[in-house]
Amino acid sequence: MIAKTRHISDTKNLTGSLPAIRYVDPKFLYLPLTNARCTKYEIYIKEGEHVNCCQMVGKRIGPFFEQPIHATCSGTFVGIEKHYHRNGKLTDFIKIENDFKDTFDPEVKTRTPDEIAKLTKEEITEIIKNCALVGLGGSSFPTYVKFQTDKPIHMILVNGIECEPYITADHRLMLEFPYRVMDGLKYVMQAFNCKHAKICIKSKYKDIETVYRQVIKEYEGSGIELCLVGNYYPQGWEVEMIKNAEGIQLNTGELPSNQGIMNFNVSTMVGIYKAVKYNMPVIKRFITITGDGIKFPKNFRVRVGTSIKELLPLCGGYKNPEKDKVFILGGPMMGASVPNDDIIVSKTVTSIIVLDKMDYVEEPCVRCGSCVLSCPVHLEPVQIMNAVKTLDKERIKKLNPLKCIECGLCAYSCTSKIQVTDYIRKAKMIAKL
Ligand code: SF4
Ligand code: SF4
Repeated sequence: MIAKTRHISDTKNLTGSLPAIRYVDPKFLYLPLTNARCTKYEIYIKEGEHVNCCQMVGKRIGPFFEQPIHATCSGTFVGIEKHYHRNGKLTDFIKIENDFKDTFDPEVKTRTPDEIAKLTKEEITEIIKNCALVGLGGSSFPTYVKFQTDKPIHMILVNGIECEPYITADHRLMLEFPYRVMDGLKYVMQAFNCKHAKICIKSKYKDIETVYRQVIKEYEGSGIELCLVGNYYPQGWEVEMIKNAEGIQLNTGELPSNQGIMNFNVSTMVGIYKAVKYNMPVIKRFITITGDGIKFPKNFRVRVGTSIKELLPLCGGYKNPEKDKVFILGGPMMGASVPNDDIIVSKTVTSIIVLDKMDYVEEPCVRCGSCVLSCPVHLEPVQIMNAVKTLDKERIKKLNPLKCIECGLCAYSCTSKIQVTDYIRKAKMIAKL
């Protein structure tokens, strides 16, 4: 059966209406020393040394960027331990024992409205850089780099679409902190001298729509409006969002700034608010712990660096403890799986999905074409898969797998339950060689 799949099963009702539980005082917090973009690091503190909350305790070093590492509580640096990172890899983490005093670093300070109003684009960029803000929707791309464009920007888009199934972290953040979203957006508009902005949500998010229709009235004359987009996947992909919100189709590889548009995830917008208003890096975030393998799926607001093992009992533990589990960091379509629950909430962890492991058998490809029909970037996943199987590098390159956004739709729509996306990932690696 040929199926064009964009309307994937909606599992947000497990947690969408649940307020986030505040869990911000774990005894130990863990900060990753490396990530996918930065594989080297420096540490500026010694074991046994006291650190302040928000103190810069080291930095990650990559080929293109450096990322300051900030303590997310005050306490004592007790050593380095290995845990699973969002990218699915075992990683070294700085371990800090919380002293529960929340002694803030002297760099943290409140800016008055007058001080903020005088900030230039360059100053706001520098603040965001020093606060090590990255794309908190999961991209982890350094936010200050986006601010460095010299293109004129006429529209800021806030991405509150959160189109992956299960995840409701941004949903709760939008409902619980609408003024932080709005103020962060005002600061971004100030930086770019931009007069128009749209907050994009799916049209079915009626609860968010109600709140923002009300709140936007308080920002009269700001140029901020609400934009309702379609309820399909991958509507949160920036190319789809821009097409729907602005009627502009980006070319392959074209940056939104080339069309005078800047887009930020809604959590990043709150990160910008905290950085500009308080000179504060991201030390807390919303996450969703959900999935059929957990008794009571929930949303949390936690300190960055919290171990998931502490949160699982608050969800009632596993539904079927005797069954093996699959843990997915991020959404089921684009997230990374890790082998156990030794997971730390880093800045870009949006959710942990716990599923009971199911044995399924891949069947042979029946050449149904569902994967081709579903691909939002118009690739031929089945052909790419066949080229990978025969290691035909020339053919792989011709089929252009580097255009793939790893949305997972080809695997989701496959009638033979083939993990087609895994083949596309392999093809991307081969094409880069
Ligand atoms: S994962 Fe890549 S190849 Fe598969 S449907 Fe998405 S964009 Fe297309
Ligand atoms: S890979 Fe799956 S979806 Fe694609 S043609 Fe084959 S059976 Fe159909």
